[in-house]
Amino acid sequence: MPEGIESRLKGVTDQIKAAAARSGRDPNSVRLVAVSKTVSADHVLAAIQAGVTDLGENYVQEAQAKIRALGDENVSWHFIGHLQTNKAKHAVRLFDLIHSVDSVKLARELNKRSADLGKVQNVLVQVNISGERTKSGIETDLAMDLVGQMAHLENLAICGLMTMPPYFNAPEKVRPYFRALRNLQGLIRNEHFPNVGMGDLSMGMSGDFEAAIEEGATLVRIGTAIFGKRG
Ligand SMILES: *Cc1c(COP(=O)(O)O)cnc(C)c1O
Repeated sequence: MPEGIESRLKGVTDQIKAAAARSGRDPNSVRLVAVSKTVSADHVLAAIQAGVTDLGENYVQEAQAKIRALGDENVSWHFIGHLQTNKAKHAVRLFDLIHSVDSVKLARELNKRSADLGKVQNVLVQVNISGERTKSGIETDLAMDLVGQMAHLENLAICGLMTMPPYFNAPEKVRPYFRALRNLQGLIRNEHFPNVGMGDLSMGMSGDFEAAIEEGATLVRIGTAIFGKRG
């Protein structure tokens, strides 16, 4: 079995519980998504055997190969990368939760492909909360409108919001962006869109997941801290 994954996973899990406790939250309200992009299937298997239940992938083809090798009975697969519309058909077959819906066009395509499968696809809306030009995600000011339009798409279940804040090596610098996503969640909730759940906030990575949990994350996406540095 690959070295170190089990102990690193234990460390991360303990940190998640501690961060939840510090902020008066139920530790079970935070789900760990182990990000396995570029990680080989045997290392992913080691993580599953050590207790990982949710895996996050950024590329459809890479995920497809791993899902074929490892199955999807005991784990949920999450898509966390940028999704091209022409991959929507594959994505709805493969993933339990797609974190990165950022346009009406993509949402409509996912809805159509889900309908073809007779599936209701769980999705999050990815928000570019920092407004950096290089980042994917819908602009903060347009997120409400996107959710409103998606509310009509019957084969999509909108579960909440996701963001990728700017990279800082100090978690405290990222905290305002986490807080901003939670504020947006509150504003959208207040609209009471029919057919829209807003319970989930996907935010926080290896360097800053504790701050994200303190600010309300329900899904943390952690790669390096579990699998080690990517090659
Ligand atoms: C790679 C990636 C992560 C995990 O990053 P780490 O710093 O390795 O924990 C989380 N979210 C997204 C969208 C990613 O692409």
